Amino acid sequence: MDRSHITSWLTDMDGVLVQENKALPGAAELLQQWRREDAPYLVLTNNSIFTARDLSARLRASGLIVPEERIWTSALATADFLAKQMPGGSVFVIGEAGMTTALHEAGFIMTETDPDYVVIGETRNYSFEAITKAIRLINTGSRFIATNPDATGPSADGVLPATGAISALITKATGRIPYVVGKPNPMMFRSALNRIGAHSETTAMIGDRMDTDVVAGIEAGLHTILTLTGISDEAAIQRYPFRPTEVISGVGELVHPRDGEARDAGGDAASPPAAPGADSDSDAAGSGE
Ligand SMILES: [Mg+2]
Repeated sequence: MDRSHITSWLTDMDGVLVQENKALPGAAELLQQWRREDAPYLVLTNNSIFTARDLSARLRASGLIVPEERIWTSALATADFLAKQMPGGSVFVIGEAGMTTALHEAGFIMTETDPDYVVIGETRNYSFEAITKAIRLINTGSRFIATNPDATGPSADGVLPATGAISALITKATGRIPYVVGKPNPMMFRSALNRIGAHSETTAMIGDRMDTDVVAGIEAGLHTILTLTGISDEAAIQRYPFRPTEVISGVGELVHPRDGEARDAGGDAASPPAAPGADSDSDAAGSGE
């Protein structure tokens, strides 16, 4: 598969780089390759519960070096979208630090009185009182926004109700559907491209889901790469009316051997990659967008 025209990268996080807080094979090496080559890239997640700083720390605990400015969440995409729509607007938020921090930094005012928007993000602390407030505000004219459509999220004990499930409750009570910014809305990818100054013709999107990553990548005009480490398999791909540009078994396939290593392929002469600490320092210093 020719991807020689690709200079910038967007990648999904869960099911591509990590699975249940464990780094997937090749993920550390791919991130290191992008740092070494100074490639523009962003790690994307539909989860709006955490800030980019939180996620950077969580990834680091899994052995993956991703500076916070290289992370793009549905909360950041939502704040970016709303700031363009209505600079300095007001919001009522159901969500956690990932959402409230993003909206504060984008210049929004939090209020329960006649807000421009009601924004629903991920939280583990839904309250009947807050949901009632959201419903009444939407009924009286506040615009209804949700960070992502996911109905459930994973946990060690089983599924958790997620943003899409709570939005559905509000939809049932108000008769209004939210505008959803996260995947599969290609808005999420467009704002990510803008963030790193990348262009769709020369950018690839790596994801593990046909119904979000791949379809949104196609609609945003990206080179799409489906990795089978997540929940899609070959049989599942056949059922969709669209196909990714390419299918790989894991992100390790995107790591090219470094000079001196390739020539010894098959042997055990490959030297270990440079210490991640050295790389991350230079990256953190160099990325000031
Ligand atoms: Mg995923």
